[in-house]
Amino acid sequence: MARARFAPSPTGPIHIGNIRTALFNYLFVRSSGSGNTMVLRIEDTDVQRSSGEYEKLIFNELKWLGIEWDEGPDRGGHHGPYRQSERLETYRKYIESLIEEGKAYYCFCTPEELEEDKKKALEEGDIPKYSGRCSRLAPEEIERYIREGRPATVRFKLPVNKPVIFDDMIKGRIEINSDTLGGDLVILKSDGMPTYNFAVVIDDHLMGITHVIRGEDHLSNTPKQILLYEALGWEKPLFAHAPLILGPDRTKLSKRHGNTYIGQYRDEGYLPEAMFNYLALLSWSPDGERELLTKEEIIQQFRIDKVNKANPVFDIDKLNWINSHYIRQSPAERIVELAIPHLIESGLMTGEEARERREWVKLVVEAVQESLVKVSDITDRARIFFENSPSPKDDEAMEVLRGEHVKGLLQLFKAKLEGVEEVDEEICSGIFKAIQKETGIKGKSLFMPVRVAATGQCHGPDLMKTLLILGKDRLIARIGYMLDNYVQGKE
Ligand code: GLU
Repeated sequence: MARARFAPSPTGPIHIGNIRTALFNYLFVRSSGSGNTMVLRIEDTDVQRSSGEYEKLIFNELKWLGIEWDEGPDRGGHHGPYRQSERLETYRKYIESLIEEGKAYYCFCTPEELEEDKKKALEEGDIPKYSGRCSRLAPEEIERYIREGRPATVRFKLPVNKPVIFDDMIKGRIEINSDTLGGDLVILKSDGMPTYNFAVVIDDHLMGITHVIRGEDHLSNTPKQILLYEALGWEKPLFAHAPLILGPDRTKLSKRHGNTYIGQYRDEGYLPEAMFNYLALLSWSPDGERELLTKEEIIQQFRIDKVNKANPVFDIDKLNWINSHYIRQSPAERIVELAIPHLIESGLMTGEEARERREWVKLVVEAVQESLVKVSDITDRARIFFENSPSPKDDEAMEVLRGEHVKGLLQLFKAKLEGVEEVDEEICSGIFKAIQKETGIKGKSLFMPVRVAATGQCHGPDLMKTLLILGKDRLIARIGYMLDNYVQGKE
């Protein structure tokens, strides 16, 4: 049975790259047979930067995307606790046994001394590396320093000039020489906290993790971890390092390229199934041509060893295409629910109005849903239904109102509206037909001036829907306003 884990640090909102790591772990676990387990482990040993709030955010964002885990701080399990800050005793135990076995030692070097060493190495053109000074301390010296209360870290002794070799499930065979790893590795910091490389090995082993899937930014950590597995006499898991996501300029995806946190996409109105679909396609492709796939279809086809080695480029146009597809497919009621906060936030309506006029909002959503790339676009698309008296938006709209027949046409349209109780589809088409019959105006010459008078623009949602959403009184007011202010010409 495979056991994989997602091990985020709750030090900020989840980055797109990290959520893709979570997704690949999830897809791996779910696609490679039943009985596999997805573990969520919170790596919160950086006490200064970790917070419970960020931990909650991680839970929420994973759930939002549709990633469920089987064991974790909130769900429990047989291998807990699942927060590293609650496992300090366990780390201590292994630190002590490594020291006893002579595989690790206390290091009393001060930050200044280490800085000095580093500077010297750089000046001499060497790659900085811990000198091993404290590994040569006599036992009495060590005891004395401890008694004196000198701050100490614990370092793990790295073997000299040893090739560390492993077969990465994505990248293939990797070989890194132990001499390039920066010298003996700090495994316990002077504040008593384990370092990432140490805690991760202890936890992955004790939690029975069989597959470690993470971003390739961790590739240089893996040989250090493998050496720790060897020193502890433990079997190492299999590793898969997913290629980093790049921006369009082929540098690491960052703020400069736009939104980098999954929560930002959710807040802008990207749908979870669109993000799930898009993120799965970053570095992996399904068999066949079809790229719009449900979660179940992706799970069915996903294979970790089919993940590309090449770095994927985050392609917002593709994400937008996928998202608009899922928006179009959604029931209007769902989009209404998601759209209302945007309408309120942009000041187009209050919360109370949204509650009272929910059915009307649904008509608005139905009219514009086809054109939404993301739900937040609703504020732009639906603005025409909220403004008091829109003016012509551009030259194109002005040009339409300059038509010779427009004044007469709009006056007639307005008069006919005044003669009816309320507008519905039948009444509106009746009015158009009657005008066509009386004046001979038809097609674009008939509809376009009405559209511009009603909305101020030449483009927009279906005209009939637009007229019905606006309703009789607002149509009369808007047409009257245009006639008074923007329409000249013959009656
Ligand atoms: N806490 C580490 C991170 O967020 C986990 C890396 C790993 O998966 O080993 O990068």
